[in-house]
Amino acid sequence: MIFLAGFGIALYLTILMVILTRVWRGKMESKITRDQFLKNQRERCNKNNYPHFMPASGVCYRCKKDIVPKLISKGNDGNLLVTGCPLCHASYCA
Ligand SMILES: [Zn+2]
Repeated sequence: MIFLAGFGIALYLTILMVILTRVWRGKMESKITRDQFLKNQRERCNKNNYPHFMPASGVCYRCKKDIVPKLISKGNDGNLLVTGCPLCHASYCA
């Protein structure tokens, strides 16, 4: 009986750990890093043969500001093509 109870607790703890790990990982993924954003944008362009419009460094050519945090705050994780600056509205298409 004691053995069975111990087994039950171990199983319960394992399931709990799996659930907690999933929740934690989900939170990590929703908070995308600058590097991950730039990597996503590069891969997106390569896969679809789009020109890489936005500056590879993530810093706007015109206002010289880092545009990545602004883009992330707008919900872009790098998988949406960036064609202009969200801060000074310069177009990168020309
Ligand atoms: Zn700009």
